[in-house]
Amino acid sequence: MPVDIMKRFVPKKWSAMPFFRQMDELEGIPVINLHMWFDKKLKNVDHLCFSRSPLLSVYADMSTTCKEYYDEEKSMLELVFAPCSPIAGGNVNWIKKSNEEIIEATMGELARLFPTEIAADGSKAKLLKYAVVKVPRSVYAAIPGRNKYRPSQETPIPNFSLCGCYTSQKYLGSMEGAILAGKLAAEVISDRAAGQPTKGIKPVMDDVIAKCKTFEPKEPAGLKGSDDFAITFGAGDVMGSKGEKELAVNDPAQMEEPTGVAEPAMA
Ligand SMILES: Cc1cc2nc3c(=O)[nH]c(=O)nc-3n(C[C@H](O)[C@H](O)[C@H](O)COP(=O)(O)OP(=O)(O)OC[C@H]3O[C@@H](n4cnc5c(N)ncnc54)[C@H](O)[C@@H]3O)c2cc1C
Repeated sequence: MPVDIMKRFVPKKWSAMPFFRQMDELEGIPVINLHMWFDKKLKNVDHLCFSRSPLLSVYADMSTTCKEYYDEEKSMLELVFAPCSPIAGGNVNWIKKSNEEIIEATMGELARLFPTEIAADGSKAKLLKYAVVKVPRSVYAAIPGRNKYRPSQETPIPNFSLCGCYTSQKYLGSMEGAILAGKLAAEVISDRAAGQPTKGIKPVMDDVIAKCKTFEPKEPAGLKGSDDFAITFGAGDVMGSKGEKELAVNDPAQMEEPTGVAEPAMA
């Protein structure tokens, strides 16, 4: 599970152990994933694009690139809308904004990127339907100095191993990282089961060890809110006002406004 969820489940008995406290140094950042169905086939994007847009970091026309969505008549774009909040280094808190505002801004960006095919006022390709999936805590922020705090798959608890893309391996938080972390966790489990030596626990940084000396063991924070809420699963949600309220309770930082930066006007 993602590191932010894992941190909320560490039992009191383990909570002052430097191995588990090092995860405090890893923080997942929000991202928004958009699904947009158009009434025509767009011709400009026929592969996955890493974009020059300040809002749309990567996107693909799924009707061309993905068998399950294949369609020769109509496009379905999937886009990663990032950075989407001050937590992720952005200057607008889009997590707080309505789905309509996010789509309006996206249409403005798409009109700028593909002026021959898309107009912000919908006068060219028409948007038939959309889904705005907010992922409040996705991969950990890969800011400088974080790698040393990623925990090994092997933990000090004999029958407990970690996996997940945030755990220590050669890739950043990514699909590749998740797969490699899973293989390394499986290796720890099978070595331990076979009574063979493991690769060992990754040493914890001195600053974490020092902080732990005065750390009072605490009960896990757990999760508040309804069972189907996105945060509970560490995943994404097409959020309505109920979801936003639960997010504000579980993770108040998500609702903070950026300080000292004026919001740009909507497109
Ligand atoms: C919008 C977006 C775009 C991305 N694009 C890319 C990309 O282009 N390339 C790339 O390499 N990576 C990308 N990533 C990152 C990639 O998706 C992750 O790094 C990867 O999925 C992490 O895998 P994981 O197995 O560590 O965790 P996850 O895939 O998050 O799996 C964790 C699982 O744990 C479950 N879970 C959570 N809490 C609990 C609980 N309490 N009990 C039981 N189960 C629980 C969740 O439901 C989930 O199924 C993207 C991520 C996002 C959000």
